[in-house]
Amino acid sequence: MSNGEQSPLLGEGPSLGQQARIYRRAPVARATIYGILTAVFVVALILGSVYWEKLGGYVGHLPKDPEKAAKRLLDVAPIIDGHIDLPILARSRFRNNATAVDLNGELYGHVDIPRLRKGQVGGFFWSTYVGCPKEDQVGEDYLNATWLVRDTLEQIDIAMELIQKYPNTFEFVGTSTDVMSAIRRGRIASLLGVEGGHQLGNSISVLRQFYRLGVRYVTLTHTCHNAFADSCGMEPGIKPRWNGLSSLGKVLIEEMNRIGMLVDLSHTSDDTARQALRHSKAPVIWSHSSARAVHDVPRNIPDDVLSLIGTDDTRTDAVVMVNFAPYFVAEEGKADVAAVADHVEHIAAIAGRKHVGIGSDFDGISSTPKGLEDVSKYPALIAELYRRGWNRFELSGLTGRNLLRVMAGAERVAQDLQAMGLEPKYDVYDKRLDL
Ligand SMILES: [Zn+2]
Repeated sequence: MSNGEQSPLLGEGPSLGQQARIYRRAPVARATIYGILTAVFVVALILGSVYWEKLGGYVGHLPKDPEKAAKRLLDVAPIIDGHIDLPILARSRFRNNATAVDLNGELYGHVDIPRLRKGQVGGFFWSTYVGCPKEDQVGEDYLNATWLVRDTLEQIDIAMELIQKYPNTFEFVGTSTDVMSAIRRGRIASLLGVEGGHQLGNSISVLRQFYRLGVRYVTLTHTCHNAFADSCGMEPGIKPRWNGLSSLGKVLIEEMNRIGMLVDLSHTSDDTARQALRHSKAPVIWSHSSARAVHDVPRNIPDDVLSLIGTDDTRTDAVVMVNFAPYFVAEEGKADVAAVADHVEHIAAIAGRKHVGIGSDFDGISSTPKGLEDVSKYPALIAELYRRGWNRFELSGLTGRNLLRVMAGAERVAQDLQAMGLEPKYDVYDKRLDL
């Protein structure tokens, strides 16, 4: 028998006969072990296939079902919306009385806490918006006294009052790392944005004060031109004032770069956007804008501007956060989840998937796309893009990481410029005669 040949030739211990018995038992033991291992493997395989989606979750894979996939993704990469107009709703309906605004109940409009939670929102920019003055009110050089700066302070105030009223829900933040830590604590990171250069009272000092109050982006224009830049208006054919940025507008961008205030190009004219992209040392944003090639309105971004966005040396890093306003999304009656997804995909096709985000404009729009009626519906858009083949990295970029990258980039530029000792800008609007 072969076992005898394999037994040790010499040595103490068991006799050859005993050894033979031991070795005869070995194949049986081996077979048993193999058997057990095979059984364990088969059971693991069966369990694995049954619980594949659950197991996948632990290593980051998304379930096949788009709705489940969206939910799973948003659990770890929640929505950070670039533009929500809750403060103007508080002004127009509640006279800026935070006591009267019950965000725990079902609030008029598109936003309240139950719906924010349902929509898996991790943060948003509270837009502190004040409408454009009438041209005859402000004068052709924008010099007449207005209440715009007061009203903006009131909008910052109501945003802050609402944020502080719900400390277990909202956390006021000012940096990309603060956004992430608020989300980790289960809070909704709350940032402030000012929606128009007209709200600066032609003054770079006011810009700095808004930053000190926590504002982290200023939209260069709303629907009116101002001392800094041209707007795209609402209808085509608006006559430019500066053919883009004014000289003060360029200084404004330089100061925004220095202090870490994001340059927001939504609402600006195409020339303003092109020049700002060239002039800004920091990454920029479109807080709530869509694609003109998909739906041709002035508020949307043309392809040649989108093609200036990128992370190589010849382009500027940016994130375009897609607007849900039906008027900007599609022809009347045709705005739905798929149409909004078309905008996301078009911007991604030209600028890259690292350069899209979400800027719904909720509470700032009078109607909504079908399927995206309020802040509880974001998962439908994520599910739609998952269905179209977007992977979890691309989707988490869309939901917030692209915006965080741009914010971190602007923060770095500000640190660098300040470390270089760059002086604050003290330029005064040249049409002003009082200073
Ligand atoms: Zn707007």
